[in-house]
Amino acid sequence: ESVVNRIAAGEVIQRPVSAVKELVENSIDAGSRCINVVVKDGGMKLIQVSDDGHGIRHEDLPILCERHTTSKLRGVEDLESIKSMGFRGEALASIAYVGHVTVTTITEGQLHGYKVSYRDGVMEHPPKPCAAVKGTQVLVEDLFYNMVARRKMLLNNDDYSKIVDLLSRFAVHHIGIAFSCRKHGAARPDVHSIPTPSRLDSIRSVYGLSVADNLIKVHHSHSHTPTSSLFELDGFISNSNYLAKKTTLLLFINDRLVECTALKRALEIVYAATLPKASKPFVYMSLVLPSHHVDVNVHPTKKEVSLLNQELIIEKIQSAVESTLRTSND
Ligand code: ADP
Ligand code: MG
Repeated sequence: ESVVNRIAAGEVIQRPVSAVKELVENSIDAGSRCINVVVKDGGMKLIQVSDDGHGIRHEDLPILCERHTTSKLRGVEDLESIKSMGFRGEALASIAYVGHVTVTTITEGQLHGYKVSYRDGVMEHPPKPCAAVKGTQVLVEDLFYNMVARRKMLLNNDDYSKIVDLLSRFAVHHIGIAFSCRKHGAARPDVHSIPTPSRLDSIRSVYGLSVADNLIKVHHSHSHTPTSSLFELDGFISNSNYLAKKTTLLLFINDRLVECTALKRALEIVYAATLPKASKPFVYMSLVLPSHHVDVNVHPTKKEVSLLNQELIIEKIQSAVESTLRTSND
């Protein structure tokens, strides 16, 4: 059974950056205002995510790393209305099958926290009382120690820059949260964002002036029926002065960071037609869709998103982007 579990876990957590994404999303879901990430050896030796969120209750610790343990799905009605896409209760379980997990956590109003370690998803000993300030710290050590081939492949293929890229994206979208990301032992973080009321400020602080000074605001809301909109789009897109070698698409759907290759290609087509000299855009886009239009179970990594009416939505986004670019060029 444990081999089957390990293989399944390796599908959900494919590399260190997938573990970081799951842990940071848990911290975001916990209402954190401050999230700090420390990484050693590209995440293979150590990943530490600390937050100041609501913490994990003592009685939830024994089953925390069992599969399908989630506090984010409490009845069938929730399934329809749930905003959170990380609701499947698989992430921590998966990480605990392919790495050594230690959780330190304290909930509101407690005098001390608890520290507990997991192996193969099972608690190694009863939670030990310990000092703690606020929130949760999850430490993952020796990722893929039990998957020889994977470990070998990843040790030659450092994920640190992917992790920095991930945290940069989170920092742009979640402007009320302070994020930091650093290498273990490094004096300075490589991502360091502070809460700001302005999206443009967050882009400026993470991606620099050369990006932020060349952005145009884009907004579109597409009415489906008189009472509900099919989708709403808010974002920033680069103008004709932004010249880059590759396209950057920061895409959030219902506040979840996702990837959509089809949309990326579609944006490149619009830019090639409208701004041929600046055909590799920088695009930050936040879409709000009815949750039943988003299929999150398409792939265990939940990265590539699948949408109902995807072609229609992409077409609408293309025309919104195109008209925004044309108006700004006049
Ligand atoms: P999911 O996020 O899909 O519910 P996970 O395996 O990622 O599943 O997490 C399991 C549960 O552990 C969550 O539902 C949540 O209750 C709890 N949890 C995990 N990380 C944190 C955290 N940083 N702060 C508070 N609770 C957490
Ligand atoms: Mg989760």
